[in-house]
Amino acid sequence: MKNTKNRFLALVLATAVFAQLNSQQGLPFKMEELTSPKFPKAVSLSGGVCVLPLGIIEKHGPHLPIGTDLFEAREISFTAAKQEYAVVFPPYFVGQIFEAKHQPGTIAYSTELMWKMLEETCGELSRNGLKKIILVNGHGGNTSFLQYFCQAQLASQHDYVVVLFRPESDPATEKEIKSLKKATLDSHAGEEETSMMYYLYPALVDQEALKNESGLDQDRLSKLPFGYTGIWWYAKFPNHFASDINTPNKRLGELLVNSDAGQLAQLIAFLKKDNTIQQLQEEFIKKTQNPIQK
Ligand SMILES: [Zn+2]
Repeated sequence: MKNTKNRFLALVLATAVFAQLNSQQGLPFKMEELTSPKFPKAVSLSGGVCVLPLGIIEKHGPHLPIGTDLFEAREISFTAAKQEYAVVFPPYFVGQIFEAKHQPGTIAYSTELMWKMLEETCGELSRNGLKKIILVNGHGGNTSFLQYFCQAQLASQHDYVVVLFRPESDPATEKEIKSLKKATLDSHAGEEETSMMYYLYPALVDQEALKNESGLDQDRLSKLPFGYTGIWWYAKFPNHFASDINTPNKRLGELLVNSDAGQLAQLIAFLKKDNTIQQLQEEFIKKTQNPIQK
């Protein structure tokens, strides 16, 4: 009798687990692929977590597509959402890229528009129940903008939270990554980015153009003491390419993509369960409304 009961319980449990897996697999994580009637189910399954991958449309050396950052940020987000369900926002490429306006194919929106676009996108996600928004930045030129956007969340009351994903080097893959890397200067459109694109979309890497331009630091403002200026990047890398080696390595690309995706999945899982940011934000805003009250 006991055995039969146990078997029955095991069967119920297995059915529930299977149903959960099935519903997760049957529900797209790409927001644009969800039907409107299934949208609330996705919000519930995601715990209100939405991943917003931010790319840009800009030159990536002579050899990579101008949408490189968009491809990379989205693929990392897809890989993470497969591990830990979250809704992934459709292609988004409004960001800070004034420094590449001299290069063909750059789409550089105004400061006002990029701010408004992100603010209203977050507001619209929240209105639809996605109240925990993770910004996954694929573009170096967005870094200061996105950090400031996060800081500005404290200026007024919000019924949602915004978290900027910050990947770190992964001790599990660090050694192998180091052993594969050959470049001594590796930044924009360099060895790492070229390898990631080669792993994700090999046909989009223009192998014939790899060596067409120099990505070396031209260091034309080295005499400027103790100062920051917006032209610093152009002074160093006018070709909008910063690397001494850009030869692709598929394994390196795979390791980099999967390392970031694994960390992003951890962040999604954490935010699903934890409401500390929301609670602290509410407590803080309440105090800002009357700071002299004890
Ligand atoms: Zn890039």
